Amino acid sequence: MAQTFRSTQDYRALDVAHHVHPFTDQKALAGKGVRVITRAEGAYVWDSDGNKILDGMAGLWCVNVGYGRKELVDAATQQLQTLPYYNSFFQTSTPSQIELGKVLAEVTPPSLKHFFYTNSGSEANDTVIRLARHYWRVKGKPTKRTFIARNLGYHGSTLAAVSLGGMSHMHALDGQLLPEFAHIAHPHYYTQGAGLTLEEYGLKMARLLEEKILELGADNVAAFIGEPVQGAGGVYEPPPGYWAEIQRICRKYDVLVVADEVICGFGRTGQWFGSQTYGIDPDLMPMAKGLSSGYLPIAGVAIHDRIWKEINEGGALAHGYTYSGHPASCAVAIANIQLMRSEGLVERVREEIAPYFRKSLQELAASHPIVGEIRGVGLIAAIQLVKHKPTREIFTTQDDAANFCRDVAANNGLIMRAVYQSMVLSPPLIITKAQVDELTEKARKALDETAKKFGLG
Ligand code: PMP
Repeated sequence: MAQTFRSTQDYRALDVAHHVHPFTDQKALAGKGVRVITRAEGAYVWDSDGNKILDGMAGLWCVNVGYGRKELVDAATQQLQTLPYYNSFFQTSTPSQIELGKVLAEVTPPSLKHFFYTNSGSEANDTVIRLARHYWRVKGKPTKRTFIARNLGYHGSTLAAVSLGGMSHMHALDGQLLPEFAHIAHPHYYTQGAGLTLEEYGLKMARLLEEKILELGADNVAAFIGEPVQGAGGVYEPPPGYWAEIQRICRKYDVLVVADEVICGFGRTGQWFGSQTYGIDPDLMPMAKGLSSGYLPIAGVAIHDRIWKEINEGGALAHGYTYSGHPASCAVAIANIQLMRSEGLVERVREEIAPYFRKSLQELAASHPIVGEIRGVGLIAAIQLVKHKPTREIFTTQDDAANFCRDVAANNGLIMRAVYQSMVLSPPLIITKAQVDELTEKARKALDETAKKFGLG
């Protein structure tokens, strides 16, 4: 169907009439009016009123190569014309599914070279849970079933993925979640590290895992899962030594290490995977988002050789999705990875644009009365909003400074995300230095207005 262009008012009315939005108070949104995004190019999106907005979130942490990349569109078109769909259940495969495995194995850490494809990060994490439990059953340790994750960890929205995640507001929707999931506190030095060096604090927080394993009994624990940098919970990078200690504890108690790379993967931290940035050697590695830069849905799980060896001996794997390895999504993912390689995007993030981005944000933080700290690594960042800088007092949920700041920024041409009382940024990897300047300037204006609103300007 050709795209029709209605007035913003008509779009809004139809949206209210039919569209149920994820993670949204529908009634409040209906009163306010949805913003309709109609097109995009490079690092910018346009709304139905013609406003040009710098996308500081790369969609939802996913449009790594930026919008309007013809190579990806051509790959999808060509695949859809040749073979729009075929499954991989009937002892069959398709060329793009096969080629994607080869290309992925060239960019993932060397021992991760078998891939199970899914459509979303949530499905990838459901797959992780099933694979890990299957692995332990095959190994003759069927009681090892419980997953340990972290508070404010985000692993998706299916019933299993939400149980795995550590988001209390999401848990509240269900009342009771699935059994055999446990959580430990996540590290945040700025609010909790007083009196300790960063390293001491990192060890202290990692050792919570050991306590939890001992409490549950190592014979019952299948795996620990963590995002290399916690993303949707508010961007918390691990203190130095944290992941090394997590890994040491996991190996000591025979617990699998799962690195959820759904956000960190495909260049965001300045390496292909966050695991490489933090020296993690994952047994299972879910990935999504940047795999296709969001042009078509595709996700997957990379499986380490030592896990694959057992699973391969375990008989039929009774698991899969109709669209596991959708041919068009695989074709787009291949084109996306090839583009990232030919343009040296990962190196560009590491050596050029991320250092500039971080320096700009640090300068903003140093001079701004309501910015407490800048978190993150590479091209993922959080600006922590504080009421009182010297005592590190954070705005409360009732203040809702972050949502105010987000709306001001969007009206002024910059998309930032409000997560608790932080402003989160995750721009496309192709962002230029001039666009970083634009981003920082617009963020500063939004922060100034927020400070003024709360009498702190
Ligand atoms: N894991 C992580 C780390 C994520 O950030 C997300 C999505 N933000 C998911 C899993 C779930 O992915 P999806 O929304 O594609 O199901």
